[in-house]
Amino acid sequence: MSKPDFTDVNKSAAKNFNNQRNIIKDLCRGKMVMCTECNKPLEMIGPSKKPGSKTPGIYCKKGCTAIELEFQE
Ligand SMILES: [Zn+2]
Repeated sequence: MSKPDFTDVNKSAAKNFNNQRNIIKDLCRGKMVMCTECNKPLEMIGPSKKPGSKTPGIYCKKGCTAIELEFQE
């Protein structure tokens, strides 16, 4: 039996990760980043203590982009 090959999976995951890092970097610099799907500006949601608040992350208005972020306390 041959071992499963995850090379392609790992490659695309790394690419996504890099894209996300660039988006985060740009947003942190105050640059406007558009959603690749709907071309609406992406919005960064920071951590909030309010109950029922959205998970921190980067979202577009339509919801096709939703990158959840983990903020360290
Ligand atoms: Zn979108």
